Amino acid sequence: MTETLIPFAEAIERYEPVIGLETHVELGTRTKMFCGCVTTFGAEPNSQTCPVCLGLPGSLPVVNRTAIEYTIRIGLALNCTIAEWCRFARKNYFYPDMPKNFQISQYDEPLCTDGYLDVEVNGKTVRVGIERVHLEEDTGKSLHVGGATGRIHGAEYSLVDYNRAGIPLVEIVTRPVTGTGEDAPVAARLYVTELRDLLRSLGVSDVRMEEGSLRCDVNTSLAPPGAPWGTRTETKNVNSLRSVERAVEFEIERQAAVLDAGGRVIQETRHLHEDTGTTTSGRSKEEAQDYRYFPEPDLVPVAPPRDWVEQIRASLPEAPAKVRARLRAEWNVSALEMDAIVNAGALDLVRQTVAAGASPADARKWWLGELSRRAHDLGTELTALPITPAQVARIAELVAAGTLNDRLARDVIDAVLAGEGDPDAIVEARGLAVVSDEGALTAAVDEAIAANPEVAAKIRDGKIAAAGVLVGAVMKATRGKADAARVRELILERLT
Ligand SMILES: [Zn+2]
Repeated sequence: MTETLIPFAEAIERYEPVIGLETHVELGTRTKMFCGCVTTFGAEPNSQTCPVCLGLPGSLPVVNRTAIEYTIRIGLALNCTIAEWCRFARKNYFYPDMPKNFQISQYDEPLCTDGYLDVEVNGKTVRVGIERVHLEEDTGKSLHVGGATGRIHGAEYSLVDYNRAGIPLVEIVTRPVTGTGEDAPVAARLYVTELRDLLRSLGVSDVRMEEGSLRCDVNTSLAPPGAPWGTRTETKNVNSLRSVERAVEFEIERQAAVLDAGGRVIQETRHLHEDTGTTTSGRSKEEAQDYRYFPEPDLVPVAPPRDWVEQIRASLPEAPAKVRARLRAEWNVSALEMDAIVNAGALDLVRQTVAAGASPADARKWWLGELSRRAHDLGTELTALPITPAQVARIAELVAAGTLNDRLARDVIDAVLAGEGDPDAIVEARGLAVVSDEGALTAAVDEAIAANPEVAAKIRDGKIAAAGVLVGAVMKATRGKADAARVRELILERLT
């Protein structure tokens, strides 16, 4: 079914969006949440299981201390209050990839509550309230075989892999975010970006969205300005940063059309289609009571000692936002320039290139310019380009030393990306260095003057602009290997 949509700019003129995000992050503990099974990604299906994570009768869970510690780390980094005493709860529902038929989660007694994360959105700070951070166990994975879509409908049979069942999973729930207006989709993406960077800096997860270790449910509602909040929809399991933005944007366009037509937005979960950026209806949303939560009787309460919490607080690394502020000062770049570096996913690359000896300006120039274009053309991330920060630093150094001009540097980049080796080896093998031999340059200049007598006459008459023609002729004769500025100087020395 094709949905009716209102163009985004028009929708946002008439309606105020409210967004909310629930983020699930798989913790990078060595073992699972309630048993000793290892958590290595990509192992042979069902090779990392035991009676506890398979939910066999009589098996008893034991809490993983490191998972508690990681969750407290996350809570503290998000400015939350850490509970002095809390319990796990059973969330009852049936699903084939959840062998116990209940999930051990936290309900009304989460480990961390009431924090915030500041996010820079188009030069403004948006403080995103964090309602809760709680700990639960992940489910297994179903693989539906034989259907065209990979979904259960139309499949011939399904396989279940319980390796993921019982991996510690932290859920981070924001409070509703209001007042972002047309920036709502971007704000959603930047919140998840900031959260991902924070989690990575804490060392608690590998936060790989493509492997599912960070997944997002995106809530969106719409209402006319001043009216009570509208009914929200929840787009489930969004697994890329770009998709987070598109999910909000699409829901604003779709809900605006429903409201414009005098309809009612239905509270439901929706699925995002990564290929088209559209969402379709899933199921209507369960209420909490459908899960019949009750305190988990097989586990003792969690009461983290205060001195332990303080130790964890003292061990927190510098927050990514602080790191960026420090680098901004060191590199002497504006907030907008820093945003461009971060949005391009180039912060670590620029940092490493500077560490390898390039100036911050050069490192930025190559990663945000030429290399971003190459990544875009190849449809890949900057970090996936087969060129290292050290190689980029060396190319910048060769340019600064006058061995390469920008054009030749681009040829060297091509060659590095094509796997031809390090910049120095490429310059040597391909003879790419700038012609710096003054004698050779002078000869080329004299030849160009002799071959273009009318142009030379114009320059002698004071039409300096005509020199460009001769510079072009010399560059052509040297196949781009001359220093254009020096060539121009030589021409003017001779003719004026
Ligand atoms: Zn196990």
